[in-house]
Amino acid sequence: MTITQPRHLLDGSHRRMFIGGAWVEAASGETFETRNPATGTVIATVPRAGKKDIERAVAAARNAFDGPWSRFKPHERQKLLLKVADLFERHWEEICVSDTTDMGLPIARARGNANRVLGMLRYYAGMATALHGQTIDNSLSGDIISYTRKEPIGVVGAIIPWNAPTAASVWKIGPALATGCTVVLKPSEEAPLTPLLIAELMAEAGVPDGVVNVVTGTGAEAGAPLAEHMGVDKIVFTGSTATGQSIVRASAGNLKRVSLELGGKSPVIVCADADLERAVPVAAMSVFANSGQICIAGSRLFVARSIHDEFVARLAAYAAGLRIGDGIDPETEIGPLISPRQLQRVEGYLRAGSEEGARLVAGGTRLSHGALAAGNFVAPTVFSGVTDTMRIAREEIFGPVISALPFDTLDEVVRRANDTPYGLAAGVFTRDLTTAHQLSRRLQAGSVWVNTYHAIDPAVPFGGYKMSGYGREGGAEHLDEYLNTKGVFIRID
Ligand code: NAD
Repeated sequence: MTITQPRHLLDGSHRRMFIGGAWVEAASGETFETRNPATGTVIATVPRAGKKDIERAVAAARNAFDGPWSRFKPHERQKLLLKVADLFERHWEEICVSDTTDMGLPIARARGNANRVLGMLRYYAGMATALHGQTIDNSLSGDIISYTRKEPIGVVGAIIPWNAPTAASVWKIGPALATGCTVVLKPSEEAPLTPLLIAELMAEAGVPDGVVNVVTGTGAEAGAPLAEHMGVDKIVFTGSTATGQSIVRASAGNLKRVSLELGGKSPVIVCADADLERAVPVAAMSVFANSGQICIAGSRLFVARSIHDEFVARLAAYAAGLRIGDGIDPETEIGPLISPRQLQRVEGYLRAGSEEGARLVAGGTRLSHGALAAGNFVAPTVFSGVTDTMRIAREEIFGPVISALPFDTLDEVVRRANDTPYGLAAGVFTRDLTTAHQLSRRLQAGSVWVNTYHAIDPAVPFGGYKMSGYGREGGAEHLDEYLNTKGVFIRID
């Protein structure tokens, strides 16, 4: 298939979406704009896909799954994924510029994510040849032996948010390709461009037509038909809890498998013995990184009462010193929020915090001086005097806002930290080994970080408890989510 897509220009040009190895328009001919959230400038138009386009993409994915892709041996899939990773590495700067321009991630941070993304791809490449069933002697009859087979589940619909387009794409396409599945990826309408670049690089690496399809469109017009589609065998979703619930409902038609990485309201607990030099910047960036638009944001900061005031003062000073601006500047630490709508949402929480009686100690406003006026910038914000029932302490803000809450005992802080419908992540700062282990056990969260935050490893599963979702990404058990297990019984007498 000839690749007719223009290079990834980010200059307002039109880009097509990728179905069955071809760059195509939406059946309706409609398009939508995507903007740079730091400048408000239109950087591209893309097809506005609907149900017919989803039909076409699922058919292409099914043809590839039944056809050429099914003949790829695990070692060939491994080689291909390694080639994809090498090509991503060569184009890493282009990928970073795309993420920065389309969704505002500071370029320094995007560059620093190389190991996370490439490491994940190479981990999945390795796993492609490590998939196997078991032999089981029949416990009821000596005349029968059994074995299990791991078989690819089929066509995977992947629906991702805008806050980490590269990582989210790779975390879904990587395991799908390692296990022999095919994919229809629906990026967020807020940041569709890097997934298109990823499709382009995958095609260049030799991924066969139809194995990876990227369909651009809104949640209602393209996401919902994908989630409902009777020809899709699994949906892997990252996004808000409310959308996750509607995807589960939509999946009921053919009882397709679903895994969900959803929202969070993660607690970070700073004990009285913590190393404050380390804890202050890490706790701050647990929320401020990516302007708070991270599912694992440690937005509820529980601080031991004896160090609370000092900690909050240091945190406020740290927040005030962060460099805010267009992420394309390598010095920028905090970029914009994704959209004017998200800006309004976050401003609503800033008002709610003050109205409910929290004390503003840093930030608290939109930044609109000079060049920042064109973008969606909010100052890194710290509230103290927050109580557990305030909205800023209960609801996911998805903006650069930390709520500091004092605590007195470990039993109390565990109870309060777990008192949330979410359970995605938690952080602990302590020098005491017993406290570290005890809190790690007692916190209801899919990931617990001690004296650090954000650390990942491709081999360690990531995912939520409670309303933060189910299923895991990363780790060997992740691959099971893309596989069916078959039991085979053979009579040998
Ligand atoms: P969102 O739920 O609004 O959208 C996510 C994706 O779902 C988008 O592609 C959107 O178009 C699509 N969508 C929307 N409605 C749909 C529907 N009815 N059917 C099918 N698809 C639909 O989320 P967002 O605002 O893009 O992202 C922010 C949310 O994502 C936050 O809640 C955040 O915590 C969560 N998130 C979670 C993780 C994680 O790993 N747990 C990671 C990143 C973001």
